[in-house]
Amino acid sequence: MVNLDKEQDKIIESLDAVPTLLLHACCAPCATWCLKKLAPHFDVTLFYANDNILPQAEFEKRFGELEKLVALVNDKKCDIEAVKPVKLVKKQYDEQVFHTVACGREDLPEGGQRCFDCYAMRLLKTAEFANEKFDWFATTLSVSPYKNANWLDQIGKAQITTAKWLPCDFKKKGGYNYTIEFCNKYALYRQHYCGCTPRVEDNLD
Ligand code: SF4
Repeated sequence: MVNLDKEQDKIIESLDAVPTLLLHACCAPCATWCLKKLAPHFDVTLFYANDNILPQAEFEKRFGELEKLVALVNDKKCDIEAVKPVKLVKKQYDEQVFHTVACGREDLPEGGQRCFDCYAMRLLKTAEFANEKFDWFATTLSVSPYKNANWLDQIGKAQITTAKWLPCDFKKKGGYNYTIEFCNKYALYRQHYCGCTPRVEDNLD
């Protein structure tokens, strides 16, 4: 099995400049560790493209937390070092795109084919945006223990774009624990569901 984290480390070690990176971000908690690892080496733009997050109020809430994270980093108020100010781009929300992907599979548990297609939906948008504008593209998704890093790598490598896919498995090196500790320390909101399947007990206020 390929160690995607080691592959990423080798690429970082080989950099002799500060390349641009479009980093798809699903939420602020996941972005914390990914920025900690990548922002010292890349000129990072976070790309918030997540038509899967239901309802729209939750999509907007998570974006607001990403704005808070970017301010913490750029104002040097946390331990994430960035070689260039972190930028943030929000793609317009279109819930129908996700419903087309998930149609007929809404009740399946997380981790199956619906999720594979949901990853692909978001990485396609990221690759399209990165094309001819960024040197590299990647996603924060693999920091979650519920996300399949090998699927993400397979999808990322298959995209047709001038930007290069950066292999990632952000679960390594304690990445997930870092996200929890960071959110506790800086009072960032951590949601209790991925995006499409809120449980009745979740508080979406
Ligand atoms: S559980 Fe998450 S990754 Fe899977 S389809 Fe729903 S929003 Fe997408």
